[in-house]
Amino acid sequence: MNARMLHHLIRERREGVVGVAMSDEMLRIENLHVSVEGTSIIKGLSLTIHRGEIHVIMGRNGAGKSTLANVVMGHPAYEITEGTIHFQGQPLEELAVFERARAGMFLSFQYPAVIPGVQVGTFLKKSVASVRDEPPKGRAFRKELNEAMGQLEMDKSFLSRYVNDGFSGGEKKRLEILQMILLQPSLALLDETDSGLDIDALRIVSKGINKIAPEAGCLIITHYQRLLDHVKPHFVHAMIDGAIVKTGGPELALELEDRGYDWLDAAA
Ligand code: ADP
Ligand code: MG
Repeated sequence: MNARMLHHLIRERREGVVGVAMSDEMLRIENLHVSVEGTSIIKGLSLTIHRGEIHVIMGRNGAGKSTLANVVMGHPAYEITEGTIHFQGQPLEELAVFERARAGMFLSFQYPAVIPGVQVGTFLKKSVASVRDEPPKGRAFRKELNEAMGQLEMDKSFLSRYVNDGFSGGEKKRLEILQMILLQPSLALLDETDSGLDIDALRIVSKGINKIAPEAGCLIITHYQRLLDHVKPHFVHAMIDGAIVKTGGPELALELEDRGYDWLDAAA
């Protein structure tokens, strides 16, 4: 083997290794700055999430947590003024919103919208069809749906109701999780999915998160450490005024719930 071939081989191998690492990197946010209607909300936030990792973000109301989730999903109201976001190594600005969903990104909304006149079953089938290359077949899809609903302990009657119309808080969040299980995202952003849930609903929502977590990167926005009785995060981040000011393990969630955020203000 001559020197040139050897060099080529080494480079190939190195790139191979890089390739593996890249495919496990789901989200990389670097020095992100975001404005809404001219007001700066996110101010220099960096965060990297790999496959199989569960990250939790906690912070006061107005810290910019939903803004972060929305901007990653491509909500048009939010303007990135500085910094970059990559999804599986690809710059996000290259992906339109529907392409982000097709590429495997999923956002569970803090306030899921009511869609009067659209039945849950139809809605789920359409949303699955919009991200899969093969549209789901009637029978196979019903089986898939039955299985997922069974796991989430949801009654079949749910399917014929209109999306979120008259749903309790817990029912809305269950529907979000049902949708997530069907879509099998590689990046799941969950914005206060645990808020307002009773213990049973919380357990079920956690089950859904744990089901997709091994193959996905998860970012969970929450105010409460009680979710973490069921879902074990690898990283907990405290967000103050649009930036992550402290990162720790699950113990940080306990500390934040216990002590609040004032003690971190100096770091912001
Ligand atoms: P959090 O989710 O941490 O409670 P948000 O990201 O919802 O915080 O909001 C952060 C700040 O940005 C708030 O002051 C909020 O009023 C403002 N904001 C968020 N979204 C919008 C929007 N679409 N239009 C105007 N202001 C917004
Ligand atoms: Mg919010």
